[in-house]
Amino acid sequence: AVEFRRVDKYFGPHQVIHKVDFSVASGEVVAICGPSGSGKSTLIRLINQLEVLSGGEILVDGQPTSRLKGKALRRLRTHIGFVFQQFNLYAHLSALENVSLALTRVHSWPNEKARQKAALLLQRVGLADKAGHYPAQLSGGQQQRVAIARALVTDPSLILFDEPTSALDPEMIGEVLQVMQELAHSGITMIVVTHEMSFAREIADRVVFMDGGAILEQADPERFFTAPQHPRAQRFLQKVL
Ligand code: ATP
Ligand code: MG
Repeated sequence: AVEFRRVDKYFGPHQVIHKVDFSVASGEVVAICGPSGSGKSTLIRLINQLEVLSGGEILVDGQPTSRLKGKALRRLRTHIGFVFQQFNLYAHLSALENVSLALTRVHSWPNEKARQKAALLLQRVGLADKAGHYPAQLSGGQQQRVAIARALVTDPSLILFDEPTSALDPEMIGEVLQVMQELAHSGITMIVVTHEMSFAREIADRVVFMDGGAILEQADPERFFTAPQHPRAQRFLQKVL
């Protein structure tokens, strides 16, 4: 579970997150949407401290996280998977090595055990036959599925996605969404920044609409897409649907 309490974020003099209160329950799947520059990426990057908050507090599983450093911060991050728009795989490592790396390097697993677990995860995302391939030998959709396997390898209770399908050719979006859909049904907590309204509508338990660094509306998907309340959410949906 994640809880934001009056969270502020400034970049220099610019406030980009304004006193956000926001909670996600364990096992919940939340889609975050909103216009470009509204603060979606910043909001989720604050959770594992890819960005450091300027005010307020974020609790993960009840623990305040804003003052964690060193080992405690690393431990927090291994409880949180992160999947980026641009995959961010290591080009000089195979698919299997990309997935197993956190186990051998951060958790000191023996090589063989780490490779076995990585192989299972590649199988789970439909890439058992690509274990030895390097990122350059994989399609965008395959690379993103490796990145999802990598995010899962430390058994996180929470996984954050920042526009995981936005860099993909249209014909590859479906295979990534399917993996995410299976994941959504596995009980893991997911927060997904996405422009993929079909995902938000069909898979998310709740849709969050952001604009100007604030959450302007939260609703179950059916209601958000059929009867958005906030005028800016209405305008946004007119543009994207
Ligand atoms: P997009 O849909 O384009 O990805 P977003 O909703 O994810 O947009 P953010 O990337 O969170 O938006 O950016 C929110 C605001 O913070 C924007 O005004 C952006 O210019 C600013 N911003 C983001 N990162 C930084 C940074 N590292 N330094 C300065 N300003 C930043
Ligand atoms: Mg963004």
